[in-house]
Order: sequence, then structure tokens, then C-alpha cells
Amino acid sequence: MYDVEDIRRRLSDPLQVVAVLGLTRGMRRERGGARVLCPVHKEREPSCSVSTGRDGTIRVHCWSCSWTGDVLHLTAAVHGLDCRTDFRKVVAIAADLAGVSPDQSPKGTARSRTVRDPLVDLAHRVDVAAADWLAGRTVRLDATIEAASAEQIADALELLEAADELTEEADERRAA
Ligand SMILES: [Zn+2]
Repeated sequence: MYDVEDIRRRLSDPLQVVAVLGLTRGMRRERGGARVLCPVHKEREPSCSVSTGRDGTIRVHCWSCSWTGDVLHLTAAVHGLDCRTDFRKVVAIAADLAGVSPDQSPKGTARSRTVRDPLVDLAHRVDVAAADWLAGRTVRLDATIEAASAEQIADALELLEAADELTEEADERRAA
């Protein structure tokens, strides 16, 4: 099971959320967040505002079609899902984006400790480096995003994908 509030809290940085959801194309920075192309209606100029609400979590509002929601609604819209009927699926995707795992069992921990596949280590390091970059932990977030072009963000996301593939490959190797 997932802690939905925990996921909402972890995914509370507008620019990071926009990046991990792949909404940087056409994005414009604005005070307190970003304006992106609306995921629920077709448009050429971004009118969907992604910012941090008073409770510290993401608020989404489209000034063109009046659609509003939180980070889960945004995740659902990006993935073509319905936040009510596909709620569990949406939460699982958001948890993955937030780096939250549902399985905290000792078995999982023991397994990750014993595995010494260099491919897994490499995947993990790439993953952490990309996540760090996206989170702007090493540099002030504003400076990072300002200096980052959409291409650089896309590169970082590609790194994350490559890390996932490496992990899968290692899993398959172990299973074989
Ligand atoms: Zn809209």
C-alpha cells in the first residue's frame, strides 16, 4: 500500500514535477512554478499553471479550460488515466515518480543487500545522479532550471530511462 499524502508531499516542487512528467515542451516559467501545455485540452500556447498551493502540495489550474487538480490529477491526465476509476494505477505511477516503494518488507531489503551485480550498481548510480540533477540538490534549484534547456532536462530523463533499462537487464540476468 502507498501513503498518498506522502507521495503528494514528495512531489511538491512544480518544476521537478513538470520535468518528471515530461511536460517541459513549450513550458514557461512563472512566479511560483511553471505554465505548461494543458494535458486535458489541445493548445499551442501554455495556459496550464503548475504551482505550489497553500498546503505545500501541487496545484494545477488551466486558465483556458478551467481544469483544476493536484499532482495525482496531473499524473493521471498525462498518462491518459481517470483519477477516480484508475486511482490505484495513478498512485502507483506517482509513487514511482516520487521514488516511493510500496514494499518495505525485510525480504526486499535482504535481497538488495546481497545482490552485487555491477550492472545494478551502475544503474543505481546513474539513477541517483539523474534524480539529484532533477531535484537540483547540488545547485540552487532556480539556477539549475534557469541554466537548463529543455534538451538538458530531456537528457536527464533519458539517463533515468537508461538506468531503468539497466536494472531490468540485471533482473533478467539474475532470473536466467
Ligand atoms: Zn486546459
